Amino acid sequence: MAAITQRPKGTQDVVPSEVYKWYTVEQIASETARQFGFKEIRVPTFEDTGLFVRSVGDTTDVVQKEMYTVSATGDSTFTLRPEGTAGTIRALIENGVLNEGFPQKVFYILSCFRHEKPQAGRLREFHQFGCEMAGAANARADADVIALAKSVLDRLGLKGIELNINSIGCPECRSQYHKALKEYFEGYKDSLCETCQGRLEKNPMRILDCKSQEDKQIAENAPLILDYLCDDCKEHFEQLQNNLRLMGIDYKINARIVRGLDYYTRTVFEFITTDIGAQGTVCGGGRYDGLIEQLGGKPTPALGFGMGLERLILTMESQGCDFKKPEKCGIYIASMGQKGESKAVELVGKLREEGFFAEYDLVGRGLKAQMKYADKIGASFVVVLGDNEIDSGEAKLKNMRTGEQTDIKLDDSFVDSFSGIFFSDMLSDENFRNMISSIAKDGE
Ligand code: ATP
Ligand code: MG
Repeated sequence: MAAITQRPKGTQDVVPSEVYKWYTVEQIASETARQFGFKEIRVPTFEDTGLFVRSVGDTTDVVQKEMYTVSATGDSTFTLRPEGTAGTIRALIENGVLNEGFPQKVFYILSCFRHEKPQAGRLREFHQFGCEMAGAANARADADVIALAKSVLDRLGLKGIELNINSIGCPECRSQYHKALKEYFEGYKDSLCETCQGRLEKNPMRILDCKSQEDKQIAENAPLILDYLCDDCKEHFEQLQNNLRLMGIDYKINARIVRGLDYYTRTVFEFITTDIGAQGTVCGGGRYDGLIEQLGGKPTPALGFGMGLERLILTMESQGCDFKKPEKCGIYIASMGQKGESKAVELVGKLREEGFFAEYDLVGRGLKAQMKYADKIGASFVVVLGDNEIDSGEAKLKNMRTGEQTDIKLDDSFVDSFSGIFFSDMLSDENFRNMISSIAKDGE
């Protein structure tokens, strides 16, 4: 019985009182992406399993241990997306978007599924804001994508998040590097974890991304990819750094970053915080010049990143960042008696038509309890409609912040009169004035 009353391990509910935090992050991320010229793309939650095996890579943790593969009777098997890039690239190819000129720039906000050991900041269903850019080989594009990620983090108010960059080269320089790595790890073969012993033959670079403490220690003195880059890859990495400097974006070169997915080439990067414990990578991304061709498209350079929204929100909470407050009820119409109740229904309908957040009693509370409720939901104004008000055609509109009361007619002029009072109150509110003047200052 317990199972049906509990959410699956590693999943989260977002309750109504917390959802404004998600709105803040989703709104800032998508607005910033649109400003950078990215358009939203929406793709299915599940894809052919082979798509992920081919793109993410069959020696990665994601494919080896973390995929949720599902099937329905009589159907083939599918996999719940463990990340957003593979499905997005599949969609860009399948819908001919890549024939519409370059660069193509898309972003998404979506759920991902990985069968991992749940911990703070590590879930089985989590959410990513991500972007992909196709058709730009130049290092300016790498810097531009990094600048988008940085802008989102800045606008969320996050501080002290360090950008780490690295280059993992192209298939040519990597083949030399693989040889050197293999030689190095051969010496420790028996001490490596079982998974990494298998990786030694097929993809020794994956060992560098292993989460086991022992393997991490062994990897500490392994050869570094930066020493094996070919001239073109070196030049690309230099150009990336030049562009980041031009943009005033601080970075650190971290030769240990190889990323957990196989499709990366040249630039890889992570934004890392130390504020939420071990799962500190809030954003990871890089270039994947071979992926589009590998998935059946024309050879097209591309790059992107994924940002974990749960980790972002955790970091914002731990740093005390501001979330956009949820909108509060503008007017609550309290009523007593049949006539008052009917009038409340009519007026609330009209107010809502004009775009106001208006509420009235739905559960049959007494007048006192209605007033208490209006206060609890933070209504800005309250009107009480009883027999007297209906008969005289006039009621008192109470400003809940100042306590001030104004007479208001209950005829056709009601919504206009309320509108005037509502907006002049907003302008006289100090918080609102401060907000406007800070926006004006930002624009200077
Ligand atoms: P990690 O090294 O933390 O496992 P990863 O290399 O697997 O991360 P990516 O596949 O690059 O991560 O995904 C991009 C981002 O998505 C990560 O930087 C992180 O913020 C977030 N993310 C990845 N896996 C999870 C998860 N299981 N739960 C919550 N967020 C996640
Ligand atoms: Mg991972």
